[in-house]
Amino acid sequence: MARIYAIANQKGGVGKTTTVVNLCAYLAGSGRRVLLVDLDPQANATSSLGYEKNQFESSTYQLLVDQVAVSPIRVHHDQFGIDLLPSNPALAGAEVELVHAIGREYRLQRALAEVDDDFDYILIDSPPSLGLLTINALTAARDGVLIPVQCEYLPLEGLSQLTKTIQLVQEYLNPGLQIRGVMMTMYDSRTNLSRQVVEEVRRHFPNKVFRTIIPRNIRLSEAPSFGQPINYYAPQSPGAVAYRLLTTELLNGDRRNGGGEHAG
Ligand code: ATP
Ligand code: MG
Repeated sequence: MARIYAIANQKGGVGKTTTVVNLCAYLAGSGRRVLLVDLDPQANATSSLGYEKNQFESSTYQLLVDQVAVSPIRVHHDQFGIDLLPSNPALAGAEVELVHAIGREYRLQRALAEVDDDFDYILIDSPPSLGLLTINALTAARDGVLIPVQCEYLPLEGLSQLTKTIQLVQEYLNPGLQIRGVMMTMYDSRTNLSRQVVEEVRRHFPNKVFRTIIPRNIRLSEAPSFGQPINYYAPQSPGAVAYRLLTTELLNGDRRNGGGEHAG
C-alpha cells in the first residue's frame, strides 16, 4: 500500500507545487516509487517536470470526469524517476461538470486504488481553493494532508478555514484524514515577520510543524522554468538542502509512527 498525501492550502502561491515536486524528486532519489498527481488546472507541477501544460490529451480531467483508469494517463519520467498523472487546463471545468455526479468527492480515491501497490508514495498537488478538486485530494489522502505555509504573512485566518474543511472531510468523506504536517516555506532570516509567523504557526499546530524550514531561495523559483526539480537544477543550493532534509524528516516520521503525531 502506498502512502497517500495531499498537499493543500487554499491560499495561492505558498509553495504547494514547489513542495510536491521537490518532495517527489527526493523521495524518488532515495529509491521510493513515487506518483505525483497534478490536480490543479494551472498544471504547474506538470510543467515543473519539463512537460508542456497542454501536452497531454489524457489528464486528471479524464480521470475525474470520464472515470478513465490511471494506466492510460500515467507518464513515467525516466530521468527523475517520477510517475505523473498530468493536469491540463481543461481540468478547470471539472468542478462544474461534476456538480451533479454521484460520488463526485471519491473519484480520485477510487482511481488511485488501481495503483496502490505500484507506489511507495502518492503525492497530490491541489489548486488554491477549497472546491471539489481539493476535496477530491483530501478524500484520497489516506495518510493525511501536508500544509505549506508561507513565512511572509500572518496566515491564521486562512488556516482555520482550511482546518475546518479538513474536519468536514474527515467527518463525512475520509475518516482517516489527519494533518500530517505543516511546512514553513519562503523563510527570510532577515525579517522578524518570518520568525513571528513560524512561532505563531507552531503555537497553533503543536507537534505538527516540520523542524526543517524552507528558505526563500532564488534557485527554487528558477527551477520550474527549466523543467527540473531542485535536486537536478541546483543540488547544492540552500533550497535543495532544505527539501532534502524535509524529505528525510518525512520519511523518518513515517517510519517511526506510521504517520502519527509528530511532524518529523
Ligand atoms: P498556487 O496556489 O498558485 O498553486 P503554490 O502554492 O503551488 O501556488 P508555488 O507555485 O510552489 O506555490 O510557489 C509560488 C511561487 O513562489 C513560484 O514562482 C515558486 O517558484 C516560488 N517559490 C516557491 N517556494 C519558494 C522558495 N522557497 N523560495 C523562493 N521562491 C519560491
Ligand atoms: Mg501550485
